[in-house]
Amino acid sequence: MTGREPTAGSTRGAPVNCPRCGRLAPTLVRGQCPQCLREEHDQLRRVQAFLVEHGPATAEEIAAQVGVPVERVLRWMREGRLVATAEPMRCRRCGRPVRMGVLCAVCRVELAAAIRQLEDALRSEPPPLPRPKRRRVRREPFPNRFDLW
Ligand SMILES: [Zn+2]
Ligand SMILES: [Zn+2]
Repeated sequence: MTGREPTAGSTRGAPVNCPRCGRLAPTLVRGQCPQCLREEHDQLRRVQAFLVEHGPATAEEIAAQVGVPVERVLRWMREGRLVATAEPMRCRRCGRPVRMGVLCAVCRVELAAAIRQLEDALRSEPPPLPRPKRRRVRREPFPNRFDLW
């Protein structure tokens, strides 16, 4: 989501008190002053970054981990700015439900072992040397023979 420019208030008049922070603002955008709006935007970005890194979390977990009020997280969910996933994420490899990340614990272990095996194999076996290119000798069809008497 790109930063949307806060739409300038259409009512140009007396400054208003922001209901959130009480500051005097020339206009209110979405019911709050531009400063609160920016703050909220920053928080949302942090929450999104958290979710990308840790996978799905409950509103309470998000609030605790990111340091954002729970009500705010819930409101973002209502507004569709955060997607609430009732379903746990599925492991990309085997489809088992996972709470965090993209792979389940089993697959993570298996994958790590596979990678280690691969690394060992690469270490023990010197990479094959590039084979010298053999010029393919094209055998001409046997020439017609001319016999001289
Ligand atoms: Zn404010
Ligand atoms: Zn898995």
